[in-house]
Amino acid sequence: MTPVTTMRGRSVALFGLGGSGFATAEALKAGGAQVAVWDDNAGARERAAAAGHTVVDLAEADWSGFSALILSPGVPLTHPAPHWTVTKAHAAGLEVIGDVELFCRERARVAPDAPFFAITGTNGKSTTTALLAHLLRALGRTVEMGGNIGVPILSLEPPSPDRCHVIELSTFQIDLTPSLRPSVGILLNLTPDHIDRHGTMERYAGIKERLVARADRAVIAVDDPWCAAIAERLATAGKPVTRVSTHASFRAERSGDPEPGSLGNAGPGSPVPGSPSAPRNEDSAAPLTDGLTLDGTRIMLHVGGRAPYPMADLAGIASLRGRHNGQNAAVAIAALSQALDADGQLQPALVGFPGLAHRMEQVGRRGRVLFVNDSKATNADAAEQSLKAFQTIHWIVGGVSKEGGLAPLAPVFPHVAKAYLIGKSTDDFAASLDGNVPYARCGTLEAALQLAASEAAESGADEPVVLLAPACASYDQFKNFEERGDRFRELVAGLPVEEKPA
Ligand code: ADP
Repeated sequence: MTPVTTMRGRSVALFGLGGSGFATAEALKAGGAQVAVWDDNAGARERAAAAGHTVVDLAEADWSGFSALILSPGVPLTHPAPHWTVTKAHAAGLEVIGDVELFCRERARVAPDAPFFAITGTNGKSTTTALLAHLLRALGRTVEMGGNIGVPILSLEPPSPDRCHVIELSTFQIDLTPSLRPSVGILLNLTPDHIDRHGTMERYAGIKERLVARADRAVIAVDDPWCAAIAERLATAGKPVTRVSTHASFRAERSGDPEPGSLGNAGPGSPVPGSPSAPRNEDSAAPLTDGLTLDGTRIMLHVGGRAPYPMADLAGIASLRGRHNGQNAAVAIAALSQALDADGQLQPALVGFPGLAHRMEQVGRRGRVLFVNDSKATNADAAEQSLKAFQTIHWIVGGVSKEGGLAPLAPVFPHVAKAYLIGKSTDDFAASLDGNVPYARCGTLEAALQLAASEAAESGADEPVVLLAPACASYDQFKNFEERGDRFRELVAGLPVEEKPA
């Protein structure tokens, strides 16, 4: 645990007693603060009281004695409307902050230069966080990993100069962290997501931008116009920026005017010393920026105008299949910087990455048929990545669909041999697939898997893939995406294994 000593002797209000809220209450108390905790959920309040916390009805409390409101990241700060605790805090002139802010203040006090890697983006945060933590460990570093993935940040060991914190941050968490200043800030990508909770795309992107703008060094994947514009702004302001592209060379992908060649040069934050090259972008006659690109499966380093240098090759690494994982791997490698001090360390470290459950997780094979669990693909954008990564797909899809449904996936329909529809979205999805992709209405995951497995086995394809990539939330049929993916894994394990001839 990281005891929060910056609130010692002060009285604070804390709302939201989920995993991170509870951990925050513990850390504040351990550091010597008086914490008045509250949650709408009676069970959560009872658990907190049983653990010795002071449960106070914040709706009735006198707020003049508090010095801050500590808010859980899921609770609306601004949109669609500020939560009532936020309104009360503002009326009392109090700051509203979250657990990551408390961590940052603690770091500033006890170890301001402690390595702190912060990762955000619309998609790929968890994979990149887990991969970066894995690589740092493989390179001999002591690593604490958490935040929006797994362990709440204040449950981790405290910051110290020889301990790397690798922290995934959601937009909600960044919004509650005014003094965020990571040593390395990573921004993966930006597409519209949860806009109802952030107001507008501009505001959503603006919050994400804070994470890299305040970092000592920024690593930004510039494949979408929002991120490209952010990288450009930071570089122009003189910040060290390492750009990453999943194209073989940098392109001028920007919001607004497409004037080529003005992405600027990477600052002193160029990733890894010791390699070279400086090709020019022949199409635009623009100087190529320093940074990392993806050439097929190879991650290439561009520095100072010399020939690009191959850093690593993702070919054959099942946990990093697909171009989206190329993006995740390239930004993680760009973030390593000084941690990578000898040639030859990186490739074996990458090969050893086990991947995360429910993200393109290969859960079994039966004969030629590969079974892949991408239950975390809860929207069309995420599902598109796994659909692109395979060729002959028997696709299990459906649940509670998001705005836009399957329409954005039309360009990848040619990868789909057949779709197996489950859940509430069945009628909508059938309408989108009609005339484009053969489909069956299966209702349940169980029925879908049985049919998909037998039809994939009968197909003549070299490596048919049965892919669970629902492009939907799961709550019509499951508790969450983890339960959905676990069930899929269990069902695959139960499929008969072909007897090998003696
Ligand atoms: P997050 O933590 O941001 O939700 P995850 O690493 O858990 O991201 O991946 C969630 C899903 O998003 C994966 O199942 C995959 O299909 C997709 N995905 C992963 N990385 C990327 C990326 N870099 N770009 C787009 N989609 C991605």
